[in-house]
Amino acid sequence: MAKDLMQMLAADIVLGDGGMFLEANWRGYDVPEIIGTNPQALQQIHRDFHNAGSQVLQALTWFTSSAELEARYGWQDRVEEINRTAIEAAKAASGGSAPVGGCLVSTKTGSRAGAEIFDPPNPASRARAQAEWEEQIAILIQSGADFLIPETFFRLDEVRVCLESCKKTNLPTMVLMGIGSEKTTEDGATAAECARVLAAEGADIVGTVCIGDPEQMLPTALDMRAEVDIPIACQPKGFPQRPDTEEVGYAASRFMESVPPGGMADFARKARAEGLNYIGGCCATGPAHIRAMAQALASKG
Ligand SMILES: [Zn+2]
Repeated sequence: MAKDLMQMLAADIVLGDGGMFLEANWRGYDVPEIIGTNPQALQQIHRDFHNAGSQVLQALTWFTSSAELEARYGWQDRVEEINRTAIEAAKAASGGSAPVGGCLVSTKTGSRAGAEIFDPPNPASRARAQAEWEEQIAILIQSGADFLIPETFFRLDEVRVCLESCKKTNLPTMVLMGIGSEKTTEDGATAAECARVLAAEGADIVGTVCIGDPEQMLPTALDMRAEVDIPIACQPKGFPQRPDTEEVGYAASRFMESVPPGGMADFARKARAEGLNYIGGCCATGPAHIRAMAQALASKG
């Protein structure tokens, strides 16, 4: 049986995993295709993170809603199987001991044509987006997810709709905003405002993810820390956000300047000193980074 995430957070800072999406890309797999074509390889990535020190694992349920699976591969009939397989792979990697989070992503940013649903001026789009998430949430829970992670949302209005769906369940919910050095969401909310609104609407953990390296992300997480009392998460990328990051492509970041494992270890020490509660990494943070972070936290120095 998995440990209880909220109890772990109450006891000490918790180390999550690194960037599953890019790690799978770098090993030669498309995401989420890997779930349906090579679940053993997926499980191995989770196992490598867990062996390196990840206490919590995040299932690779990225773009696994019905609309996304249809738009990407014509897999609309495989929604149950794909989401269940992703949770099971993460669970199996730790022999069931590490809590596993099921990720839910935006139906707007990053979606394939045909799977873009959320449209702020159109109220009907909210119900359609919720139907997609709620179908997925039901499967994630049935498959054994221990908590839910609305992740890398760039808009506060959209993530609030997703959080509402998560809160229809009794699982803890960790909301991770895609806010970095630009300091606001696409709909103009600051990190502090996101933390305040999301905590008031039932988020159990709030935080930031992906949009910068540790130096770019830590100040944003600290703005959240100063605003609310609930646990705060921070999962930076392993490379700095630059003006041409989108152009170059995340997959190519392996060949660009990157944060060495020691840089992520420094981040872990700072995060603990500043009172953050859940840390890990996003894109380009691999098992070597997680191992360095685990060693830094173990040293208590
Ligand atoms: Zn990322």
